[in-house]
Amino acid sequence: MKSHRAWIGLGSNLDDPRQHIEQALEEIDCLPLTCRLNASRCYASRPLGPQDQPDFINAVALIDTLLSPLALLDQLQALEQRHRRVRARHWGPRTLDLDLLLFDDSVLDLPRLSVPHPELTRRAFVVVPLLELTPELMLPDGRHLMGLADTLDTTGLAPLLPPA
Ligand code: ADP
Ligand code: MG
Repeated sequence: MKSHRAWIGLGSNLDDPRQHIEQALEEIDCLPLTCRLNASRCYASRPLGPQDQPDFINAVALIDTLLSPLALLDQLQALEQRHRRVRARHWGPRTLDLDLLLFDDSVLDLPRLSVPHPELTRRAFVVVPLLELTPELMLPDGRHLMGLADTLDTTGLAPLLPPA
């Protein structure tokens, strides 16, 4: 069986967000047929949409997996559920958001899954940690991610110090 490289975006802004992210990184490492190769630092970022909610903590993980993209999405959604994610409102607060950002150089447009994640290139809190992990990263359409980073607004985006 062929293994795949996938990049997962993590976000949280409720109930000790950093703890949710650190725990989710460990849980990702324990997913079936999967191992985590690397993770970015955690970043603080301002919320998109409604501003009357706490700042987010974001990170990106790089994994090696034998799972298919949809099987991986199932696992990520089950993990979100275990963190009791509340889908109260669009772009509202959440305990854990897991997005499948890239899967090898696959392009998928399925009812449940779009890869690359459609918002990837517009979100500094995704692009900056992605580049920290994989500076040479190229999107499936051949564009270098590095070239897109300069166009993004990084206001309020700051790496956190490692946990003590
Ligand atoms: P966002 O992450 O943009 O804030 P949500 O997490 O609420 O939005 O969106 C979840 C929905 O998006 C799920 O129903 C899932 O099937 C769908 N989805 C489509 N593509 C992806 C992807 N690449 N990663 C994660 N979820 C995706
Ligand atoms: Mg999501």
